[in-house]
Amino acid sequence: MKTYYSKSLSATFGRQASFLAKNDELVARAAQATAALCAMPARTHCPLCAGTAPQAQDFVHRGAAYFRCPRCGHIVSCNDPSFLEQDEEQFAKVYPALRGEEREARRLNVYQPKLDWVLESCRRELGRDRQHMLACQWLEIGCGEGFFLEALQRSGAEHVSGVEADTIMAGRCAGLLGADCVDISHRPLACEIRERRFDVLAAWYVLEHVPDLHSVAQALASVPAGTLFCFAVPMFSLSVVLESACHGHFARTLDNDIHTQLFTDDSIDYFLHSAGFEKVSHWVFGQDVIDLGRIIRNGIAGSYSEDMAAGVCSMLSEAYEELQGVVDRHLMSDSRHVLAVKR
Ligand SMILES: [Zn+2]
Repeated sequence: MKTYYSKSLSATFGRQASFLAKNDELVARAAQATAALCAMPARTHCPLCAGTAPQAQDFVHRGAAYFRCPRCGHIVSCNDPSFLEQDEEQFAKVYPALRGEEREARRLNVYQPKLDWVLESCRRELGRDRQHMLACQWLEIGCGEGFFLEALQRSGAEHVSGVEADTIMAGRCAGLLGADCVDISHRPLACEIRERRFDVLAAWYVLEHVPDLHSVAQALASVPAGTLFCFAVPMFSLSVVLESACHGHFARTLDNDIHTQLFTDDSIDYFLHSAGFEKVSHWVFGQDVIDLGRIIRNGIAGSYSEDMAAGVCSMLSEAYEELQGVVDRHLMSDSRHVLAVKR
């Protein structure tokens, strides 16, 4: 099993700057979401292992209580968000449509590197070369507007398809890649996995939104040996602890709204083991230190002159890549990308 560390932070600066610019609005919206979450009934079970939820909380994050599942290590809100009214277009609101160069930059800087890492890992760890991999049947669940499918197509893959619940995002994907490439589905993920054929399944930042991960693991347990599964998930990380400790800035990683469960390395291992998959490669990186920079920028605004604040933050930003590299190597960063094979 190969571990890759770190990735250039340059692609994250734009989105982080928009969090800083809209900080007060985002904090207010998250406070409303937290109040709604806290009014929901208590969870009865862990979404990942289906074990009985513990009676006691392990921590409070921006006003919402969380537990670390004693059985699988997953981080889960004590209140059950599945009772909340679902907004089927929430992701389209979070990710407005990109055009031209912006769109191209997102595909090249965010999605092409995922594909390059999967192809490199398959060659290196499994002896499956690029040509073999691009001839496979690829299915992406939660394909959004199709950035990854487009990266696959442009790299020469012919058999690619996606499933997406958000109708606006699916419409963008169909407009780009053709209506045959994407299906709108509101069915449980486990049904999609059981009923579709694929050699490689991709799920980038999807699993953390699934209320019944144990059913997904059961469905994955029935796929043929040799099937590949690549995914990325947000982690309980330095970013989350900073959000718990400092309240003035928008909580990007655990907002009590879109994210009410997070993975740990233990819960990833539990999930893969229960699905009968073995980890082949993982890639550890995040943007925790830019969150730290954002906290500092917010914290000193008003007490430092604009010039002084800008100078301090500029010096810190020069050190971002090295600082994040240390965080990554200590497995404290906010994301994991995982490639696993069915045994
Ligand atoms: Zn659990």
